[in-house]
Amino acid sequence: MENKWKKKWENPELKLTPQISNTLNIKDVVYLLKRNLPDQDQRPTVHLALGDPSSVPCFRTSPVAEDSLVQAVRSANFNGYPPNFGLSSARRAIADYLSRDLPYRLSAEDVYVTCGCKAALEATLSALARPGANILLPRPGFPRYESRAAFCNLEVRHFNLLPENGWEVDLDAVEALADENTVGMVIINPGNPCSSVFTYQHLKNIAETARKLMIPVISDEVYGHLVYGENPFVPMGVFGSIVPVITLGSISKRWMVPGWRLGWLVTTDPTGLFRKVGVVDSIKKQLIQSSYPVTFIQGAIPNIIEKTPADFFSRTIHLLKQASELCFSRIDEIPCLTCPYKPQGCLFVMVKLNVSQMEDISDDMDFCLKLAKEECVITLPGANVGLKNWLRITFATELSFLEDGLERIRVFCQRHAKIQ
Ligand SMILES: *Cc1c(COP(=O)(O)O)cnc(C)c1O
Repeated sequence: MENKWKKKWENPELKLTPQISNTLNIKDVVYLLKRNLPDQDQRPTVHLALGDPSSVPCFRTSPVAEDSLVQAVRSANFNGYPPNFGLSSARRAIADYLSRDLPYRLSAEDVYVTCGCKAALEATLSALARPGANILLPRPGFPRYESRAAFCNLEVRHFNLLPENGWEVDLDAVEALADENTVGMVIINPGNPCSSVFTYQHLKNIAETARKLMIPVISDEVYGHLVYGENPFVPMGVFGSIVPVITLGSISKRWMVPGWRLGWLVTTDPTGLFRKVGVVDSIKKQLIQSSYPVTFIQGAIPNIIEKTPADFFSRTIHLLKQASELCFSRIDEIPCLTCPYKPQGCLFVMVKLNVSQMEDISDDMDFCLKLAKEECVITLPGANVGLKNWLRITFATELSFLEDGLERIRVFCQRHAKIQ
C-alpha cells in the first residue's frame, strides 16, 4: 500500500505546482529568532521586528472604529454572505475616501474589497501573470511580492531603491530591466522597509517611465497618510491619466487593526485603458476565486472611514514622529550601525550593519540571532527584505520599550565591536 502511494505521489509528473518560493517570510524568521531567546533572563523581550503595534496600548485603534464594528454586528444586517467584490456601501465609502486625494472621482466599481492588502496584492500579481511574463519589484521590499510571484510563476526582476537618494527608485534600472514581457512595476509608498515618502515629482517620473514601457504601476499604499516628515503623501493615482495604476491598501496600518483583514484593490484608470486591454476582467476572475472579508467588517467600513476623528490620526502621527526621531538619533550613537535616511513615514528604519567593524558577527542573521540570545531584543535581518547586512527595526512601540531596546543594542554592538 505504502509503496503504491509513494509511486503515485512521488511521480515527477505530479510535482507541486505552482512552486512556493524558498525564501523565509518575515514571521518564519521572527519565529527562528524567538527560539534563540535565552531561557533565563529577568528582562522582558523587546520586539522590534514586526510592524504590528496593535497590541501596544498607545496605538490602540479609535473607539469609533470599535463601536462601528459592534454596531454592524448587532444590526443583524451583515450576517449573510457578502456579494462578489464587496458590499456596495463599502466600495462606495472606500472610493470616496481615496477620491479625496485625487484629481478625479473613483466610482464604487473601481474598488474591490479584499482580505487585507495581502489578498489585494496576491490577486493583482495573479491577474497579471501569464507564461513568460516578468514583473519589476523594488529591492529592498516586502517579501510577500516575491513569494506570490513565485506562486503564480511570474519571473521577478529587481530594481534598487537608492539610499543616497532618499530611497528613490532607480529609474534607469527599471528601463534596463523591462522588456516586451514585463507586465508591471511595484512601488511601496510610504515605503516598507525604508520609511521613505516619494515626492510628487518622483512619482510623476515613475508614471512617465511606466508609460514609456507600457506597464501599469502597482502602488502599495498600505501606509498611506502615515507620514510625518517633509514630503506629504501623494497617492500614485494622481498620475492615473499618465499611466494606469492599481492601488493597494487597507485599514490595517492607518487604523492599527491588521487583524480585521479589510483591504482593497483599486483600479485608478481614468482613461479606461485597463478595461480595454482586459486587465479589469482578469482581476475580477482572480478575485472571484478568493474569499472576501467577513460581511460585518464590510458593513462597518463606511462609519469607520467617515467617523474616525481627526485627532486619532494626528495622535498616531505624533507618536510615530517622536519614536522615529528617538530611534534615529540613538542609532547614530551606536558603533557599527549607520542609518543613511531619517524616516519620513511608516514604522521602520533601515540600518546598515558594518560587519567588518565587528569582532565575531558574520552577517545580519548572525547579528539578530546573537542579539536575541544575549540581549532579548528581536530585530529583522535585512536579508529578509532584500538587503543583506542591514537591519529593519520598527520604532512603533512604547517609547520606554524602544529606549530600553536601543540601549541593549548599543551595549551589544559595543561588546562586539573590534577594538580600534
Ligand atoms: C503590512 C503590509 C501589507 C499587508 O497588509 P494587510 O492589510 O495586513 O494584508 C502589504 N504591503 C506592505 C508593504 C505591508 O507592509
